[in-house]
Amino acid sequence: MRRPHLRHVILDTSAFIQGYNLSIDEEYYTVPEVLEEIREVLGKMRYEGAKSSGKLQEITPEKRWSDELEVKSRSAGEAHKLSPTDKQLLSLGLKLKSEGKEPIIVSDDFSVQNMAARLGFRFVSQVTKGIKNVVNWGIYCPGCRKKFDVPQEDNVCPICGTELKRKPRRG
Ligand SMILES: [Zn+2]
Repeated sequence: MRRPHLRHVILDTSAFIQGYNLSIDEEYYTVPEVLEEIREVLGKMRYEGAKSSGKLQEITPEKRWSDELEVKSRSAGEAHKLSPTDKQLLSLGLKLKSEGKEPIIVSDDFSVQNMAARLGFRFVSQVTKGIKNVVNWGIYCPGCRKKFDVPQEDNVCPICGTELKRKPRRG
């Protein structure tokens, strides 16, 4: 029998607060800072349960990865928009990638998604009705003027190849 290809999924705080269905063909990763951010008892239980079952690995990425993330997020203009926990999650993505894994980040945070796309990670948005900071940003192509609702791969326009920009959306 062929072993299913495991997907390597990085979970942020919202995944534990809202709940995330653990799948048999996925392995989960997070950083310890996430647990500190969870205030809800149910969220803490989800975290501890996944960790003790062995499905969730709690990893602190080495400093070389957080240093690399800091440099790349600064050059992307995202450094000041990312929380320390966001940065640790993205640094963990760099670490996993260096191990030959293809990290998928579950986050509803626009800056995390944007940075994930720039780093060549896939990302999944969990919700997101009601999450205002997602819809408050518009992504557009300065080349062909197309607008996008979600970040595009490598932050590049799939139509004309221009690097995408973003701006706050009105109303
Ligand atoms: Zn374009």
